[in-house]
Amino acid sequence: MRKDRLRREALVYHAKPQPGKIKILPSKRYATQRDLALAYSPGVAEPCLEIEKDVNNAYKYTIKGNLVAVITNGTAVLGLGDIGPEAAKPVMEGKSLLFKIFADIDSIDIELNTKDIDKFVETVKTIAPTFGGINLEDIKAPEAFEIERRLKEELDIPVMHDDQHGTAIISAAALLNALELANKKIEEVRIVVNGAGAAAVSCTKLYKAFGARAENIVMLDSKGVIRQDNPDLSESKKEFATHRKIDTLEEAMKDADVFIGLSIADVVTPEMLLSMAANPIVFAMANPNPEIGYDLAIDTRKDIIMATGRSDHPNQVNNVLGFPFIFRGALDVRATKINEEMKMAAVVALAQLAKEPVPEQVNIAYGETRLTFGREYIIPKPFDPRLIATVPPAVAKAAMESGVAKGSIEDWEKYEEELLS
Ligand code: NAP
Ligand code: MG
Repeated sequence: MRKDRLRREALVYHAKPQPGKIKILPSKRYATQRDLALAYSPGVAEPCLEIEKDVNNAYKYTIKGNLVAVITNGTAVLGLGDIGPEAAKPVMEGKSLLFKIFADIDSIDIELNTKDIDKFVETVKTIAPTFGGINLEDIKAPEAFEIERRLKEELDIPVMHDDQHGTAIISAAALLNALELANKKIEEVRIVVNGAGAAAVSCTKLYKAFGARAENIVMLDSKGVIRQDNPDLSESKKEFATHRKIDTLEEAMKDADVFIGLSIADVVTPEMLLSMAANPIVFAMANPNPEIGYDLAIDTRKDIIMATGRSDHPNQVNNVLGFPFIFRGALDVRATKINEEMKMAAVVALAQLAKEPVPEQVNIAYGETRLTFGREYIIPKPFDPRLIATVPPAVAKAAMESGVAKGSIEDWEKYEEELLS
């Protein structure tokens, strides 16, 4: 019944008053003949000539510097799978809407009708002059890895596959804070990663960048534990193969400190949770249904620190905490890429923000009385107005310090004020 109502409401929301979720509006005056002579012929030739002299002037005279393309081929859409480019369009329009409302970035969705890696890469490269950044979205692994790698190499604007890195960034922030609450060190904890797809691989890479040790990590795919003595492992899985002679999730979970679920629903049992170490950290992020239900997990272990991908429980690992702010920071210093340093800066900024006192308007927005740093609040909430003044400056600084920024910011206080306005 409830599901039926949601279905109807969602369809009306998308259809009325006009189809879709985004539209394009002019940003300049267009009332008089004079305005039109400036906007189009003959006046428009002037910025054209300036840009011909120096392509960087495109950032000065066109929308390029604030325009991000959300690009997919519709092969791994939400939990819906390979539903094709047209069916992916509502999701991509939604992502564009989020770019706009959270970070005032203009964004347009682009759906490509190809599963061919070369054709995908060529097409994106061909249209890249239009954009200041490219957000790759819902592209199937392993193709997504190569598409992103090549585009990052061959383009000089930021390119990020959000399904990989967004999740990695938000969950890493949550992990740092959960470890602090559990009084454990990332270098020492035993981590089980269930799933070896796009999200699991990039999350685990980022945890390693923060100090997690390869010998403490066990990763599993649909066939069980990924072991070093398995001769036919794919390149992306090889990095995470364990030397331990175990095969099942049950074996892996014994005495583990951290469980990272990026696989499918209901594969973790209460017995497995009970076999984990004290203060177990359990991020069950399979969507829409986690590896173990929230209520069941909480009832099983009183000392658990739990996160999921769902909005109806505490600690939602929600990518919207990342991509709008990361691109904002990258665009504002004209970064040529989104590198490890920038991602790590976003992680630290998010983790730190969760430890600050929560403004009353955030409590009100979420119907809470007093959100405070603790087991049920380890990452900020998306409608926290401090995010926009916190994450982009951290990312922009990291871009400048790591040498990938073509522009620079000198007055950080002024920048923060601009972000808030
Ligand atoms: P993906 O690339 O298709 O990877 C899925 C992985 O799960 C594959 O490695 C697959 O194994 C593995 N798998 C399937 N059944 C398994 C089982 N019984 N035990 C262990 N591993 C199993 O998908 P993805 O993009 O990484 O996403 C994975 C899941 O995470 C989805 O449910 C997605 O909704 C969720 N997710 C959540 C968030 C969030 O909370 N913010 C973000 C991203 C993704 P094989 O390699 O053997 O096929
Ligand atoms: Mg996605």
